[in-house]
Amino acid sequence: MVDGQWTTCIRCQCRMWMPPALYEAALAQAGKITFYCAYGHGQVFRSKEQLREEDETRRERDRLKQENARLVEQWTEAHRKLALAVKDKTRITKRIHAGICPDCNRTFSDLARHMHSKHKGSLSSDPLSTMIRPTLEKSQ
Ligand SMILES: [Zn+2]
Ligand SMILES: [Zn+2]
Repeated sequence: MVDGQWTTCIRCQCRMWMPPALYEAALAQAGKITFYCAYGHGQVFRSKEQLREEDETRRERDRLKQENARLVEQWTEAHRKLALAVKDKTRITKRIHAGICPDCNRTFSDLARHMHSKHKGSLSSDPLSTMIRPTLEKSQ
């Protein structure tokens, strides 16, 4: 036979002693029987349903936290790739403005004519196929 039960107040963390009968009754009727610490902080034992709900809430919170981290990571990666693509486009535009052929990297005073005679086929290929695109992940 246990001689009562020591427990800790959820509000002030003080140690409190519960008589065996009260301890057992409070446990048996968790969520219904309120007991008090020496400073008058009322509290109840948590019932099975409460514990289960708390567990579910915690699991849901963890899941959302993970989901959020995954989205942040995905966004960061997409943003990084976009920044790279923009940088690449800027670089190529600057070169074209300077008369440098984007395909063979040589300078031509008449770039239009050079493109027409040497790289006629380069426009027919899908420009999107060479672009870096963020990958869309399937959500589980
Ligand atoms: Zn207390
Ligand atoms: Zn060229």
